Amino acid sequence: MGMGDCIFCKIAKDEIESKIVYQDPDAVAFEDINPRAPVHIVIIPRKHIERISQVGKGDNALIGKLFFIATKLAREKNIESSGYRLVINCNKDAGQEVFHLHLHLLGGRKFAWPPG
Ligand code: 5GP
Ligand code: ZN
Repeated sequence: MGMGDCIFCKIAKDEIESKIVYQDPDAVAFEDINPRAPVHIVIIPRKHIERISQVGKGDNALIGKLFFIATKLAREKNIESSGYRLVINCNKDAGQEVFHLHLHLLGGRKFAWPPG
């Protein structure tokens, strides 16, 4: 799937509706449409990178920024002290469904470890 029909590119460009909770010139964060926890936010780069295995050296700052945004949102959502999980699924075994790199911020309940 190219970026032309990528659902997350469309969310970033505001071409399809979502509940955006943060945005800047490099990244967008929005509520997951099918939340798996009381807090479930998806953080994406505006740049169309299909999966984490495809980031290049030039993307280091961008990837760091996604994590920084996640920690800021966790604080805002009051899950910093209770705890939260940051997840990136890559390809089939991890259950990646949308092939535009994204970081999940999940919190507000206890999670199992190891993951299912
Ligand atoms: P993945 O399984 O690829 O790591 O996660 C994709 C996530 O995107 C899923 O949690 C799914 O619920 C969410 N998602 C898929 N399509 C949409 C959409 O159109 N809008 C929003 N807000 N979330 C979506
Ligand atoms: Zn995309």
